[in-house]
Amino acid sequence: MPVLIVGSIALDDIKTQTEKRLDLLGGSASYASVAASFFDQVNLVGIVGSDFPKAHLDLFRQRRIDLTGLQIVDGKTFRWGGEYEADMNKRQTLYTELNVFETFTPSLPPAYRATSIILLGNIGPNLQNHVLDQVEHREFVVADTMDLWITTTRPELLKLLNRIDLLVLNDGEARQLTEDDNLVRAARKILDLGPKYVAVKKGEHGCLLISRDQFFSCGAFPIEKLFDPTGAGDTFAGGLAGYLASLRRPVIEFSDLKRAIVHGSMLASFCVESFSLDRLKTLTPTELDERYRFFRAMSHFDN
Ligand code: AMP
Repeated sequence: MPVLIVGSIALDDIKTQTEKRLDLLGGSASYASVAASFFDQVNLVGIVGSDFPKAHLDLFRQRRIDLTGLQIVDGKTFRWGGEYEADMNKRQTLYTELNVFETFTPSLPPAYRATSIILLGNIGPNLQNHVLDQVEHREFVVADTMDLWITTTRPELLKLLNRIDLLVLNDGEARQLTEDDNLVRAARKILDLGPKYVAVKKGEHGCLLISRDQFFSCGAFPIEKLFDPTGAGDTFAGGLAGYLASLRRPVIEFSDLKRAIVHGSMLASFCVESFSLDRLKTLTPTELDERYRFFRAMSHFDN
């Protein structure tokens, strides 16, 4: 069964210290769907306005991404602008224009309601909960979130945490959610809120996956030429979810999650090598596999 992905589809304006790019394809579901499509078919649920370029829709279609669940409505697509500091781990949101998102109610086509892996990409937890309300069968649910929802819609987020298997969030968000500066304690506190697993992303320093009795610390692939980190987290989550779907397992084990995290990290390492989804568009399965194997070889410390 294809992986079900819900999230934002956006037109982004991105400013770095050296470049400014306008009207780029962005959004959590865009990055995640293209990333997941390296491993399996994707059913995409989201919304865009009538201004959304056809070329982006063609990209989704070319990548086996089913668009039956995509609403195309009169009005403007969700827009977001961000500016990076010289240290690209630091970014300011310049603006967020909800546009068609303001009235968005995700609706699952009947064929999407029984699914194996679900990725609830970064959108409001009320919408993420609404998607789960419509699902009739699922094996594993991954959810992403952000600082905005932790501040503005905490009750809905807490409700969601009780309904998912894996929460993916970055280190700052984990500290914010739990009010604990120690990441391991913060991750444990999140497990107490419901999910079986938590993956705490630490930007260029990798990711920590923990369950009640196991942990896996995944390093990041070292990247020298970082152009645009936008969407790295969504690409990570999409790659992870797509890989899990491709396993066709009735039960996801910790060892499956470890490999999924490494696959997600490798995809994210490609994503940041150019703006928007440009690098993911040209990436070949062979290049991805080569980087995965190289990373695996370099990560062994006992030989
Ligand atoms: P990331 O770099 O992983 O945080 O994701 C960046 C993407 O998230 C951009 O392409 C934005 O369009 C999208 N985004 C920014 N703010 C929001 C929001 N409030 N809700 C949903 N998506 C957002």
